[in-house]
Amino acid sequence: MSRTFSPQSLDVAAFSQANAQLSGRDSLQDYERLSNELRAPATEVTIEWRVEGEHRRAVDGATYPALHLHAAALVPLTCQLCMGELAEPLEVDRHFIFVEGEDAAATLDDASEDDDVLTLSAEFDLQALIEDELIMALPLVPRHEECPEVLPRSVQDADFETALQDKPKPFAALASLKIGTKPK
Ligand SMILES: [Zn+2]
Repeated sequence: MSRTFSPQSLDVAAFSQANAQLSGRDSLQDYERLSNELRAPATEVTIEWRVEGEHRRAVDGATYPALHLHAAALVPLTCQLCMGELAEPLEVDRHFIFVEGEDAAATLDDASEDDDVLTLSAEFDLQALIEDELIMALPLVPRHEECPEVLPRSVQDADFETALQDKPKPFAALASLKIGTKPK
C-alpha cells in the first residue's frame, strides 16, 4: 500500500488490485477543455474528485479491474433565458470497467448499459477521464429555474401600451384642425 499512484499515468490493474484510493482538489487551470465550456471568468472553480480501485462484474459475467469515480464542481454557466450567470453543480458518480484490448473493450462497452468499459492501461490518464465526465455532465441548455432580474412580460407590455397612447394621433389632430378652420 506504500506505492504511490499518479492521476495522469495510472496503472489501473495495480491500483485496482491494491483497492487503492486517490483524491484531489484541482484548480480549473488544469482542465482547459472544461474551462472553455464555462462562463468566463471562472477563476474560483475547484474540481473535487475521488477514485477507488475495485473489481467489478461486467455483463459477460466475468470480473475485471475497475474504478469508481466521484467528481464534483460548481461551475458558472450562462442562462439561455436571461443570459445571466448561473451556478450549476456538476456531479459524476460512475464505475469504469477495464478490459484488455481495444476491440474487447469496445464490444463489452456496447453490451453494457450502466458501466463504461475502457481499455486497460498501465498509464491511464485519470485526469482526462474526470474532465470528459464533467463535460458530459454539463446541461445542454443551461437555465435558471427562476431567472432573477428579468422584468415580468406584462410590465413591459403595459409600458409599451402607455407609450402608444401618449403618442399624438394624427387623424384626431387633423379633425380638430378642420373643425377649427371651418368657415361659418
Ligand atoms: Zn436566467
